[in-house]
Amino acid sequence: MHDLTRRPRRLRQSDNIRELVRETGLSTDDLIMPVFVTAEEDVRRPIPSMPDIYQYSLDRLDRELDELLEVGIERILLFGIPAEEDKDAIGSDTFSDDGIVQRALRHIQSQYGDELLAITDVCFCEYTTHGHCGVVDDEDHLMNDPTLENLQRQVVSHARAGADVVAPSGMIDGQVGAIRSALDDEEFHEVPILSYAVKYASDFYGPFRDAVETEDDFDHRRRYQMDPPNQREALVEAELDVEEGADMLMVKPALSYLDVIQTVDDQFDVPLACYNVSGEYAMTRAADEKGWIEGNEVALEMLTSMRRAGADVIISYFARAVADELP
Ligand SMILES: [Zn+2]
Repeated sequence: MHDLTRRPRRLRQSDNIRELVRETGLSTDDLIMPVFVTAEEDVRRPIPSMPDIYQYSLDRLDRELDELLEVGIERILLFGIPAEEDKDAIGSDTFSDDGIVQRALRHIQSQYGDELLAITDVCFCEYTTHGHCGVVDDEDHLMNDPTLENLQRQVVSHARAGADVVAPSGMIDGQVGAIRSALDDEEFHEVPILSYAVKYASDFYGPFRDAVETEDDFDHRRRYQMDPPNQREALVEAELDVEEGADMLMVKPALSYLDVIQTVDDQFDVPLACYNVSGEYAMTRAADEKGWIEGNEVALEMLTSMRRAGADVIISYFARAVADELP
């Protein structure tokens, strides 16, 4: 009786021994913080559906970046919010030297240099009057190939302004290859591509649209973002992007797609990122505000699950909030 040779609980008895046998690590070096920069002045505007996340104008950005560096977050993903009058049918502010992202990049480069890694989201939806991720035809359908040329102009412009990494997010067929050749033609061989290779048409993006003030046309997005029930298709997308020259891949969203993260990680040997998206942040914070869960603890558990599934890198709105608890 009670003749148990193997007792797994032996290895759970103290913090010390639990830390010794812990299988999955999470540190501030794994995290990237999204940052929203607006073309206005003197603005630090809260985003209602995303508590503690703000839009910053360039003149007020440094305090946010200083705080991130202080807690050990040294990588950001930049999103620009142009002035309404700078939006047009093709999103030309994305490749203007004077565009909001270009100005932010030059500012960050001059203030922080190599201390901060600036990754730019490469797309058009925040910059087009119609809110789509590229050039559209008369019936408002996204035109794939004409969009590629504008993507090339956008990444070259970002690289010139000091982008450390470019991250195309529009799910345009051929975008990685087009971007790589444009960067190489302009001698930007050293700028890596983090491809949003596997991006699902997800309802978890809702609060992000508040953050960047774009129109939601979910039905339309289904035509170019992936169908949530599909997993094999993720491998097709990832394979194409690796062939075209992606240096890193991404799965987006993260929490409801942990199986996809694991499958992509198993099949491809490039670093894998996932995006812990706005809806995942918003629902956690909302439940925390009601006192129903401990938000930061739940966040740490979510982030750990993404690492356990195989993500090397996590883009997360929780990055700053949880950093104090991480090595
Ligand atoms: Zn887009």
